[in-house]
Amino acid sequence: MAQILKNQGSHKILAIMTGLNGENPLQLIETAGRTAYQSRDKINDESANRFVDMIRRLGHESVLEHSAMTVEFNGVSRGLTHELVRHRVASYTQESTRYVDEKDFKVVLPPDKDENEKIVEVVLGQDGPVKVLTKLSVKDFIELNEQMYKGLRSAGWIPEDARQILPNGIESQIVMTANLREWRHVFKLRCSKKAHWEIRRVFVNLLKDVKERIPIVFDDFVIDESEITATIPVK
Ligand SMILES: Cc1cc2nc3c(=O)[nH]c(=O)nc-3n(C[C@H](O)[C@H](O)[C@H](O)COP(=O)(O)OP(=O)(O)OC[C@H]3O[C@@H](n4cnc5c(N)ncnc54)[C@H](O)[C@@H]3O)c2cc1C
Repeated sequence: MAQILKNQGSHKILAIMTGLNGENPLQLIETAGRTAYQSRDKINDESANRFVDMIRRLGHESVLEHSAMTVEFNGVSRGLTHELVRHRVASYTQESTRYVDEKDFKVVLPPDKDENEKIVEVVLGQDGPVKVLTKLSVKDFIELNEQMYKGLRSAGWIPEDARQILPNGIESQIVMTANLREWRHVFKLRCSKKAHWEIRRVFVNLLKDVKERIPIVFDDFVIDESEITATIPVK
């Protein structure tokens, strides 16, 4: 039975790039960045935070490109992943609907909508002058969609052909790798009030996580929990 997912999009940080000598991401950025000033002799246990903070405030964001992060997204729709892959300065690997049989697919729906509400009247056929009408809920429609997909597969359609009828909200998994500058750029666009609720929610949660793991790089983002948005206030 097709499952409905609400508020389940999540992230898992798979890796954050550090230096070979055990430097954390901030220390790696500092080591690379101090090349410009030939000032590696100033590196000490506390200097990375100060240095990266200075670099970020000055807007020398290219230095942040020396570290990168890989994140897995789960329980998100293909609508979300299509938005995500528009960010070109990143690498992606996504679950394939060409090779994976989607016989037990799940669909991500807006959390504030009732999937059981009989909301749309559809014409099923015509018996003489009389139209055969029924009222369907979104859940009914998704179940019909699932039956059709399974039917096509049983009729010999391979997954890459049967997938053509799958909904945009079908659940997917995607892994994204990008440097920290690009992550900042994606957070700016996808945590904004203008972004779609699904990607915004997932990215605000990821931002909370990275603000703890890599402070300084993401410190200037201010999260608004009530609206589930994040912005960099203009000073
Ligand atoms: C709220 C919202 C609504 C949207 N609505 C639509 C829509 O209706 N239709 C639609 O098609 N898209 C839409 N998009 C997608 C949007 O147009 C961008 O494709 C997407 O946000 C990627 O942004 P980007 O190019 O800045 O980022 P990235 O691809 O991540 O690139 C990062 C930065 O690198 C630089 N860069 C990357 N590639 C190049 C290049 N080839 N040449 C020069 N500089 C480059 C730019 O400075 C860019 O900002 C929407 C995005 C958002 C956030």
